[in-house]
Amino acid sequence: MPDSRPDRIRTLLADLVGFDTISDRSNLPLIAHIESYLAGLGVTSERIVDETGQKASLWVTIGPEDRGGYVLSGHTDVVPVAGQHWTHDPFKLIERNGKLYGRGTTDMKGFVAVCLAMVPEMLAAKLSTPIHLAISYDEEIGCVGVRPMLREVAKKRMKPRGAFIGEPTSMQVIIGHKGKHGVRATFTGLARHSSIAPEGVNAIEYAAELITEIRRRADRLATTKASGSLYDVPHSTLLTSIVHGGAALNIVPDSCTVEFECRGIGITESREVTDAIVAWAKAELAPAMTARHPDCGIRFAEILDYPALDTAADAAIVTLAKSLAGRNDHAKVAFGTEASLFTAIADIPSVVIGPGSIAQAHTPDEFVEMAELEKCAGFVAKLIAHCGQN
Ligand SMILES: [Zn+2]
Repeated sequence: MPDSRPDRIRTLLADLVGFDTISDRSNLPLIAHIESYLAGLGVTSERIVDETGQKASLWVTIGPEDRGGYVLSGHTDVVPVAGQHWTHDPFKLIERNGKLYGRGTTDMKGFVAVCLAMVPEMLAAKLSTPIHLAISYDEEIGCVGVRPMLREVAKKRMKPRGAFIGEPTSMQVIIGHKGKHGVRATFTGLARHSSIAPEGVNAIEYAAELITEIRRRADRLATTKASGSLYDVPHSTLLTSIVHGGAALNIVPDSCTVEFECRGIGITESREVTDAIVAWAKAELAPAMTARHPDCGIRFAEILDYPALDTAADAAIVTLAKSLAGRNDHAKVAFGTEASLFTAIADIPSVVIGPGSIAQAHTPDEFVEMAELEKCAGFVAKLIAHCGQN
């Protein structure tokens, strides 16, 4: 491993980008690589494997085990590259004009590389308060992989004092994001020749009633704006995103699928809003369908669920994040992160702060600026100093 901090970051980021960890494949080769890097430094890590045995997260503690410390958390999975126009191999790190290109450089292997590159400095500092690394998977498909790890962390005797989730915020201190709940409704009707349409049960027409109700409720949510909100869209949002149904012009459609989501400002608001819609549809639409034919009706399935993050602006973790980042401001973001799950599952106060911009995340020719990674390393260096003295 090279001596200088920037070279350590470069080397580690090149290693991490080299593993194709798109969310639908195993991340075990990458996890094994991190484990062997840490083992080389004399650091042991705790592997939490999922039920398929194909994915794992890592929990690492540097410093004393008998005190609660601070968590640096990042996910190892990345979004797909298919259908995107890349000008080079997305899984090979390229440096040009101070920018490091490759899938995941911004979201969020850059942050993970910085944390790993700082481990030798953490070890040299003889920490009195520990620093934990929480390295997860399956974030991009709904913050799935961090949950089993957080359930393990919640059982630990010493609860961490706070967590920094390194999603790309250009090193801004983020104290809040909306929650999200997604639902799929599958309408089952009765197919008939369209010339005898009244004898069938039209799944699309019942689905349309649900869509209209969702729109009505979305309009109502838009009128309840929080004053002084830090959100660009200062209210909870609700919409239908996907509709599938129908086979031919001359067939009464017997199936229609509707997917809808709410992004709520209140911690559990998004789930409450979609639960109320499901209850409405079960009371108002499903009985009418079943009355036409007993096989007709609606099935509901949860697609995605995470709570909102709403860390108090005067919380200790926010004050610490600001002093480490050398800035006094804070903000809220539109995208969801694992931060709210740290709070909801393990009761750990959390903020989102990480290198790079969300504008580069998920794009072809994704990049992060080396200067951003060095700024992030400076943040971790200050955390190390803080944990050496406290
Ligand atoms: Zn991310």
